[in-house]
Amino acid sequence: MNRSRELEIAVVAARAAARVCRAVAAHLVTADALQKKDKSPVTVADFASQAVVCAHLARELPLDAVVGEEGSADLQGATTAALRAQVVARVGDELGRACSEAEVLDWIDRGGAPATGARYWTLDPIDGTKGFLRGEQYAIALGLIEAGRVVLGVLACPNLPHAGGQGALFGAIRGSGAWVEPLAGGHREPIRAAAPATIAEARFCESVESGHSDQSESAAIAQRLGITLQPYRIDSQCKYGAVARGDASIYLRLPTRADYREKIWDHAAGVCIVEEAGARVSDVDGHALDFGRGATLEANRGVIATAASIHDAVLDAVRTVRGG
Ligand code: AMP
Ligand code: MG
Repeated sequence: MNRSRELEIAVVAARAAARVCRAVAAHLVTADALQKKDKSPVTVADFASQAVVCAHLARELPLDAVVGEEGSADLQGATTAALRAQVVARVGDELGRACSEAEVLDWIDRGGAPATGARYWTLDPIDGTKGFLRGEQYAIALGLIEAGRVVLGVLACPNLPHAGGQGALFGAIRGSGAWVEPLAGGHREPIRAAAPATIAEARFCESVESGHSDQSESAAIAQRLGITLQPYRIDSQCKYGAVARGDASIYLRLPTRADYREKIWDHAAGVCIVEEAGARVSDVDGHALDFGRGATLEANRGVIATAASIHDAVLDAVRTVRGG
């Protein structure tokens, strides 16, 4: 199958998932969310989004494996019956027909493949669930990995402003450049990461959640680079989109814990898009991100994505401040 066809399938799937997320967000109540074993939140929308994306991929690319963040285990049992019913209803609304519970749970678990083999999709059905719950930024992220390399990425960002409206959709095919278009559809334009005239004028982005990226370290790095602009704090892989289209020129993700390993679904789509926009990506030690090690970036710590021309300088400052 050719890459452009695969990209369009991913675009249709991500758009459908974004509609589901927006529908849930419009009437969000506390009962729509629960806490997973790792204490992170998950909502009706996370599960429904994963089901909808997997249903699309199952129909269009039935042989492809999907490595998704969610699993139906968190939805099983008596305590989650109401939430489960909501998920089934939301998926049915999007697909335009009544769906059975078994069918929807199956779609969710279609996203439970191991990250092994020559080819698989990565899916974060809602990256930035905390942002979603705050009514801020989140993304539906779909990447395609072949032989340990991300070859295609799509990011749907329902709350990111674009072209005078709300909602941006980013996409890229490895070797063919990156683009953005309105989430609602419309003009698709190529994007390029841009560096300011001097590094001191750069704007950097980072997580809203200080538990996901060390904000005191980033402040010290910014000071070292002479950066005075306040950090652009947004949840999710919208940060990669922001650097890819020039809203910011640096994305810092600095480890807060020595034992944390980044998940492939948190980065695959965004990395492909930002690199195709001409940016450079490494971890905090300057190593390339290795997507061929399973569900986590086992060989890497943190992430630094910047306009290519300033990557060496930013990495230098990161190393100095972190004492590497
Ligand atoms: P962000 O919106 O950029 O803050 O990233 C959200 C993602 O951070 C979630 O999808 C989690 O998988 C991931 N995450 C959870 N704990 C950590 C951690 N300690 N360090 C880095 N990322 C984390
Ligand atoms: Mg995520």
